Amino acid sequence: MASHGVLENSPNAAINKAVVQRLMTLPMPANKVLATYIWIDGTGENVRCKSRTLDFIPKDVSELPEWNYDGSSTFQSEGSNSDTYLNPVAMYRDPFRGGDNKLVMCDTYKSNRKPTETNKRAACAAAMEAAKDHKPWFGIEQEYTLLDMDGRPFGWPKNGFPGPQGPYYCGVGANKVYARDIVEAHYRACLYAGINIAGENAEVMPSQWEFQVGPCEGISAGDQLWVARYLLHRVAEEFGIVVTLDPKPMPGDWNGAGAHCNFSTKSMRADNGIIEIEKAIDKLSKNHLRHIQAYDPNGGKDNERRLTGRHETSSIHDFSAGVANRGASVRIPRSVAEEKKGYLEDRRPSSNCDPYSVTEALVRTCVLE
Ligand code: ADP
Ligand code: MN
Ligand code: MN
Ligand code: MN
Ligand code: MN
Repeated sequence: MASHGVLENSPNAAINKAVVQRLMTLPMPANKVLATYIWIDGTGENVRCKSRTLDFIPKDVSELPEWNYDGSSTFQSEGSNSDTYLNPVAMYRDPFRGGDNKLVMCDTYKSNRKPTETNKRAACAAAMEAAKDHKPWFGIEQEYTLLDMDGRPFGWPKNGFPGPQGPYYCGVGANKVYARDIVEAHYRACLYAGINIAGENAEVMPSQWEFQVGPCEGISAGDQLWVARYLLHRVAEEFGIVVTLDPKPMPGDWNGAGAHCNFSTKSMRADNGIIEIEKAIDKLSKNHLRHIQAYDPNGGKDNERRLTGRHETSSIHDFSAGVANRGASVRIPRSVAEEKKGYLEDRRPSSNCDPYSVTEALVRTCVLE
């Protein structure tokens, strides 16, 4: 049989879902709540989760118990001292289980109670606390690529390539975009959960998509983006499709994937805030390398493949800024230049960036200095 279908090569997609659909509608005992604890593993890029039963309905994240896991199985500790702590930091509604069930974003601590190497949240939260009077807002544009189980972009011919880029960005039609069902399902899952998802669009490379989270204030930007990523992986799992956040999944004349970070402070949003925006850009220009190091989980290595100066990116080596310039490190949107207030767009963060590191770097450079 001709190999195109997901069903043949993805065990998840091949499973008949009728039985679980029926069980999912069974009434559950009163006051029993399933909580999915979610955390970032030792890659700094992938999420893990596990569930537990609570015997109360939590109203606030502070009511949730600390938990732990085997850090030696997540690249976060050695087997001889493997207990790693899960500290609940944000709570959302669970769109998969519905009802009073919860998603719980956690940050992670070693047995000595110090943050794990990939816990970038602890330092970010301290910066956000110090900067809170400035009311920093972030809107992150998460680009991603859908893959078949064999690692090839979903829907691409197995023995060739789709036609050159051009028709796919914001495209409509079976020969332009693939797996819109995932995008639709994810959008609603985010809204149900309580994620401030701002929109979605098909991207320049076929099977590449984007969603935006924000504006969110302070630490909640990172929390919400991580949970939105969890929801995306989890929705795609049901379809037997893989989500990659690799910043350049296909080498050659194909766009990479970024996570543009739109940023503003109270004074940037006020009348004549453009002056504050320009001051921030001046500070960013003097800290380019530090930001590049914070903008992917491998200190700039991942972004090297993406920030080439081509395909709507700037060179990784130089800082640049401009109004409406999509080839610059930092862009001032046209509407912001016209209104003389608003926000700036840092186009450098990689799609697999840790938003805690990105938002922390922006606040430390532009607000805390
Ligand atoms: P682009 O034109 O670069 O594709 P998008 O529309 O995809 O932009 O994303 C813009 C993002 O900027 C949205 O997530 C939005 O919530 C966010 N945003 C809008 N206003 C602000 C602001 N004042 N501060 C921070 N982020 C903002
Ligand atoms: Mn076990
Ligand atoms: Mn966008
Ligand atoms: Mn985009
Ligand atoms: Mn953008």
